Amino acid sequence: MKSANLVILGNGGAAMHAMIAARSFGHSGPIHLVSDANGPAFNPMLSPYYLKGKIPWHRCFPFGEEIYCKCEAICHWNARVESLDAKNKTVFLAGNGKLQYDRCLVATGARPVVPPVPGLRDAPAVFTLRTAAQARIMEKAIGSAKRVVVLGGSLVGVKVAEILRQRNVGVVLIDVAEQILPHSAHPLAAAMLEKYFREKGMEVRLGCSIEGLEADHDGVSCFLPNRVFERADWIAVCAGIRPNVDFIDPEQVSMDKAILVNERMETSAEDLYAAGDVSQGANFLTGKSEWLGLWANGCYQGRTAGLNMAGGKASYPGTISQHVSPLFEKTFIQIGDLNRSGRNIRLISGSDPDRPILHFLVFEEDVLVGVNLINGDSWAGRLKSLVMKKTAWGRYMPDAESTSFHQIEKALNSLDHVGRMVEAST
Ligand SMILES: Cc1cc2nc3c(=O)[nH]c(=O)nc-3n(C[C@H](O)[C@H](O)[C@H](O)COP(=O)(O)OP(=O)(O)OC[C@H]3O[C@@H](n4cnc5c(N)ncnc54)[C@H](O)[C@@H]3O)c2cc1C
Repeated sequence: MKSANLVILGNGGAAMHAMIAARSFGHSGPIHLVSDANGPAFNPMLSPYYLKGKIPWHRCFPFGEEIYCKCEAICHWNARVESLDAKNKTVFLAGNGKLQYDRCLVATGARPVVPPVPGLRDAPAVFTLRTAAQARIMEKAIGSAKRVVVLGGSLVGVKVAEILRQRNVGVVLIDVAEQILPHSAHPLAAAMLEKYFREKGMEVRLGCSIEGLEADHDGVSCFLPNRVFERADWIAVCAGIRPNVDFIDPEQVSMDKAILVNERMETSAEDLYAAGDVSQGANFLTGKSEWLGLWANGCYQGRTAGLNMAGGKASYPGTISQHVSPLFEKTFIQIGDLNRSGRNIRLISGSDPDRPILHFLVFEEDVLVGVNLINGDSWAGRLKSLVMKKTAWGRYMPDAESTSFHQIEKALNSLDHVGRMVEAST
C-alpha cells in the first residue's frame, strides 16, 4: 500500500532514516513527522565535539533543514505525543490534536535519568546533556564554571568531564560503581584510564554517590557518604537514560526495558513499529533482546522500519555494543562484552614498547567477545568483524596473558577470511 498514511513519532536519527527510507522506497502517501521540539534533527552524539570546540553548531544537525521538504513530510512541531491507542491506530498530541495512522513508527528516543536524591531534581544548578537545548544550556554554564561535579562515570559522564577539563574547569567525577566506564571497559582498562584522568587533573570518587544536595545563590553543596562534602558551581547528571515510552500503553504494546521489536522493527501491536533508543532489539553477539543506546544502530533500525512501513521486506539482525571516544589525547574503543567472567573466559592484554596502543581482548573459549583498545583505531574494524562473525581464532593467540600488540597484529594478519591461520589452511 504505497499510499498508506505513515506517522513517525520523533525527530532524531531513527526517525530521519525511517522517513528517508520510506520515500526512497517509493512511498507516495502522506508521511507525518511529530516532534516535541522545533527544527532540524539533532545528533546528541556530536554535542561533546561541539562543546570541545571541535565542530561548529550546525554540524550537530546532520540531516539539515531541507530534508523535510525533500521527503514531503507533514511536520508537527512542538507537538508532544501524549498517548497512543494502538488498537484504534490513533496518536493523541498535547493540545487536543490527534492523528490516525495506517502504520506508525515510535522513534522518541530516550532522556537522561535524574536519580531521586533529595534536592537533586529541584535544584536549578543541575544539568543534563541530550537535546540541542540542553547542549546550549550546558555550554553557557561551562563558560562561567570553576568547579563542577559530574555524577556518573559512564561514557556520557566521562565525555562531559573531559570537556570540562579541556576548558580548565575543576572536575569531580563520581560513580557508584567501583570503576569508571562500568558498562564499556574491562576493569584493567578502566583503571588505566582513571589514572590518566587523574593525571589530567580530574578528581575521581568511585563506589559512592551523592546522598543529598543543597543549592544556594552561588552553587551547590553535595553530600557524599562518610561526611564527605563537595562544593561546586553546578552538577552534570550523567546517570543513565530512560526510553521515552510514557505515552505507550503496556497492555497494548510489549515492553521490557524499552519497546520490544523483532528483526523487522515490528512491535507486538499491529502496524506499530519502533526504532532507536526507544526500542529493544537483538544483540547480535548474544542473540538476546537488549537495549543498546547507539546512534548507528538506531539509524539502521529506523531505515529498516521505514522500508517495511512503505511495504518493503527489510530485516536487521541487530548489532553489538560498541563505542569510539576521543578522550584527551587518547582514543578509547569498546567492542562487544568486556564484563564476562567464568572459567572459559581468557583475557589477553598488553601494550607495545614503540607505539602508544593498549589492548584488552576477552575470549570466550576461542571466540573474541570483547575488545578495549586505547588508541589502535585502525584495528577496530577488523576486531569488530571477528567479534561479529564469532570467529574461533583464540587458539592462534599466545598462551601468555600478556602480549605485545605486535603479536596480535601478526595473528590478525595471518588469518584468512574465515578466521583460519593462512599457513594452517593450506
Ligand atoms: C552526550 C552523548 C554522547 C553520545 N555518544 C554516542 C557515541 O559515541 N556513540 C553512539 O553510538 N551513540 C552515542 N550516543 C547515543 C546516541 O546519540 C543515541 O543512540 C541516538 O541519538 C538515538 O537516536 P534516536 O533517534 O533513537 O533518539 P533521539 O536522538 O533521542 O531522538 C528522539 C526524538 O524524539 C523526540 N521526542 C521525544 N519524546 C517525544 C514525545 N513524547 N513526543 C514527540 N516527540 C518526542 C525528541 O525531541 C527527539 O527529536 C550519545 C548520546 C549522548 C547524549
